[in-house]
Amino acid sequence: MLHRVEVGKQSLRRYAASAGEETIEALHEAARELRGLRVLHLNATPYGGGVAEILRSEIPLLRDLGIQADWQLISGDEVFFRVTKALHNALQGDARGLSETERETYLAHSTRNARLLDGTYDVVMVHDPQPLALHAMHGAGHSPNWIWRCHIDTSQPNAEVWEFLRPFLGDYRAAVFTMADFVPPDIPVPRVEVIPPAIDPESPKNFPLPAQLQRRVLQWIGVDPDLPLIVQVSRFDRWKDPLGVIAAYRLVKQEIPDLHLALVGSMALDDPEGLDVYAQVQAEAEHDDSLLVFTNLTGIGNIEVNAFQRRAQVVIQKSLREGFGLVVSEALWKQTPVVAGRAGGIPTQMPDGTGGFLVDSVAECAERVLWLLRNPDEARALGAAGHDHVRRRFLLPRLLADELALYRSVVTTSDVGPAGVPKP
Ligand code: UDP
Repeated sequence: MLHRVEVGKQSLRRYAASAGEETIEALHEAARELRGLRVLHLNATPYGGGVAEILRSEIPLLRDLGIQADWQLISGDEVFFRVTKALHNALQGDARGLSETERETYLAHSTRNARLLDGTYDVVMVHDPQPLALHAMHGAGHSPNWIWRCHIDTSQPNAEVWEFLRPFLGDYRAAVFTMADFVPPDIPVPRVEVIPPAIDPESPKNFPLPAQLQRRVLQWIGVDPDLPLIVQVSRFDRWKDPLGVIAAYRLVKQEIPDLHLALVGSMALDDPEGLDVYAQVQAEAEHDDSLLVFTNLTGIGNIEVNAFQRRAQVVIQKSLREGFGLVVSEALWKQTPVVAGRAGGIPTQMPDGTGGFLVDSVAECAERVLWLLRNPDEARALGAAGHDHVRRRFLLPRLLADELALYRSVVTTSDVGPAGVPKP
């Protein structure tokens, strides 16, 4: 068996305050016909990064709606995850292709994981490229309703790597992308949906945290909550440009000498490159007491991220490529203004005059951060507008509604009805 991530149950009623009573009612109504549907979400890591974040929150709520939802993980060694990270990079446009040995590694691990898969689900939702090939390797007796949920920017994939992966999509019923721009032109699936991700307003990362607690949390980890603070919360990944963030901070610090930058980064099971980028960041921080580096390896979890995102005067997300960037919505939900790279799904979270500023360079990033630090009233207004935008578009109940509609359409157009669920 593949490893199953245990996440328990959660009550959707608790979301009425943030999402509205009618939204919750509508979700229960939409789920009624799907009660008992068995849905498997499959990915490569239980922590670190947006996919794990979403599944951790979504699975318990699907269960509350009567869906028999499970979350399972494929497994692999570091060699495999270096290959899948290369796949991830290539799908985001990196020129580096895959060697013959790397392709064999991917196929061998996919075959092994496919053998461990319990395929008796009505719907299998595969997240990102790591488990993509399992469908082609699974053999008989498995669910016909496979959906590929791609979270990354695949608008300009490396042609050679896309050519390698594309055939594995052949038997999928649907593919889901974060933005219409991300859909590769020759995607070989009959149905393509665009569904942006969402944040969980009830999670300890996002729920209200009184100022006094924010201060205590930051003080305990050695951050003076009264000093000017800017923050980036991200996996240590070169597409998130932590070195660019440091360069921008150094420019702003020339004007505001007591400025501090916190880089809060997570490692993920499926991202071995993280340690390399982390080492580069540490080298930069070695002789700079105002450059603070934290990771999930030393217990920086939801509450700490919550405190950082609330306490920062400005949150930075200087991505060069991005799928969606949940961290942007997380910061805006807390009414903290954001300066972010004009990449992937970030602009949809920050339309003009909402949330903060989009930037294309280190110099522009520094200029906008400085402006926000010097204009706190305008900064507050941008943060407040960002909060309203996130409330309307990027909260979990909206994502659940979109996914229920997708499950429904996939099982009703399927030749084989879901086990135990009458076809609506
Ligand atoms: N995150 C975290 N701790 C960290 C760094 C990141 O909890 O030190 C979380 C962050 O709050 C967000 C997710 O990881 O919920 C990152 O998602 P995003 O979509 O921004 O980027 P991805 O990692 O998926 O590319």
